[in-house]
Amino acid sequence: MPIENLMEKLVSLCKRRGFIFQSSEIYGGINSCWDYGPLGVELKRNIKQDWWRRMVHLRPDIEGIDASILMHPDVWRSSGHVESFTDPLVDCKNCKQRFKADEIDGDKCPVCGGELTPVRQFNLMFKTFMGPVEEEASVVYLRPETAQGIYVNFLNVLNPSRQKLPFGIAQIGKAFRNEITPSNFIFRTREFEQMEMQYFVKPQEDEEWLEYWKEKRMSWYISLGIKKENLRFHPHTPEELPHYARKAYDIQYHFPFGWKELEGIHDRTDYDLSRHSEYSGKRLSYYDEGTKNHYIPYIVETSAGVNRTLLTILVDAYDEEPERVVLRLHPRVAPIKAAIFPLVKRDGMPEKARKIEELLRPHFNIFYDESGAIGRRYRRQDEAGTPFGITVDSQTMEDDTVTLRERDSMGQVRVKADDLITEIKRRIEA
Ligand code: ATP
Repeated sequence: MPIENLMEKLVSLCKRRGFIFQSSEIYGGINSCWDYGPLGVELKRNIKQDWWRRMVHLRPDIEGIDASILMHPDVWRSSGHVESFTDPLVDCKNCKQRFKADEIDGDKCPVCGGELTPVRQFNLMFKTFMGPVEEEASVVYLRPETAQGIYVNFLNVLNPSRQKLPFGIAQIGKAFRNEITPSNFIFRTREFEQMEMQYFVKPQEDEEWLEYWKEKRMSWYISLGIKKENLRFHPHTPEELPHYARKAYDIQYHFPFGWKELEGIHDRTDYDLSRHSEYSGKRLSYYDEGTKNHYIPYIVETSAGVNRTLLTILVDAYDEEPERVVLRLHPRVAPIKAAIFPLVKRDGMPEKARKIEELLRPHFNIFYDESGAIGRRYRRQDEAGTPFGITVDSQTMEDDTVTLRERDSMGQVRVKADDLITEIKRRIEA
């Protein structure tokens, strides 16, 4: 059964437990900007680390890079962003609110019924100035996607890595879009992070790699514990296709506010490398030793949002039971892996629990808590998504075993303190 007012509850839990705060809150906040607190930053890092591990470390065919956010402004002319990275905008003449024209029905303001201005195209790139003079010649853009940093470095990565087609380049980093209607908590914001991978393939092999990557990417979300029934592919219709793509799929998630894009997988053909070759005068081609000729590779892109993945994970994990709220986060991404509790604050139990904490800390992010009733301490961790609770009790003082409690089932087993590292590792990887 769907949980009522899930988004409101989640926003409040995120604030209360230190996942996500409104940016500059003491000044009244700033629209669509969010800060990640102690638990939020861990969750975000874990998502990025897992993506990097699977997309780069476990794959001999993919290299990583970290390009700068500010790039030569010609990059955005070649890529087509200056000309066509726009949204259709309308204003209400009466209440002055702004809307994306393709998101409203009819020709009246959806808020007050007022008259709307004609549609005009609004470029989503943030502009700023490089250096002390604010003039047209010094305009630079905050990148609206990380992908271009990969295309312009194609040869820089190809040469030292000596990769052969097909191979990929991956990057995680911030991107900025001056969205007309940021909304739904962290779903659509003006500053966000992307995890993008560009896979360079032989021209006639793009379709087959598109199919490969769409399945691969879907399986990542499932491996993070996201429920299969809340995920689906959405093939782009010809009208939905972006200017650079021949064929594309979105991976969508069933949010409380509808089915929405989580990741885009695009067959970009040779569009990007051809455009950059043309505009820069440097031929971004590949020498095929088999056929002994030079050609421009095709690109299959997987483009995911870090923040959107984080929101998806939280929405999917949130659950309510009569006695508790529980975030059923996959142990791989959970901010805190285990919490350690002395049952009572005497009889040497806190000292023993501190010893176990010291033992585990080099391996996992750990939380120690000795205050309040044990049931209450468990529930606080359930709400933070901590998968394991370790309790030191009177038996521990005799035989050096502890109880290991599992968050979802609340099942408890006795484990030797010395076996905790192996046992927790095994369960995280299971
Ligand atoms: P939308 O149609 O929702 O604006 P898009 O099709 O423009 O998205 P892409 O350019 O394909 O999105 O971006 C790839 C991914 O980057 C998205 O799937 C999403 O996860 C993330 N992303 C894009 N824009 C935003 C944003 N404003 N806020 C948060 N994440 C974003």
